[in-house]
Amino acid sequence: MPERIRHAPLDMGKATFPKAKIQLIKDQCKGCGFCIRFCPQKVLEESQEINARGVHPPKIVDESKCLACGFCTAVCPDFAIFIIEKPSKEDVKNG
Ligand code: SF4
Ligand code: SF4
Repeated sequence: MPERIRHAPLDMGKATFPKAKIQLIKDQCKGCGFCIRFCPQKVLEESQEINARGVHPPKIVDESKCLACGFCTAVCPDFAIFIIEKPSKEDVKNG
């Protein structure tokens, strides 16, 4: 829990978090590393692979930690990464 929050919200245990599928267009990546550096959940890291632009694109380390915040998409200068939010159980229940 961040230091600035003194008490956890009382309904913390009931909170659900969105999940997402991460889509990476590897050959469009220029290897700037912004998405890796700014992901709050540390979902991405540099891969050993070399893409069509001759750089190392990111790889997904643990997609289950992704909170669908969309920050990686916002900071990517080459539109090489985006997310598709998975429907939650509530969405499925409510049709
Ligand atoms: S959507 Fe947010 S949590 Fe998920 S990979 Fe992108 S920056 Fe990380
Ligand atoms: S922000 Fe975009 S261009 Fe930069 S490393 Fe990530 S996917 Fe590649």
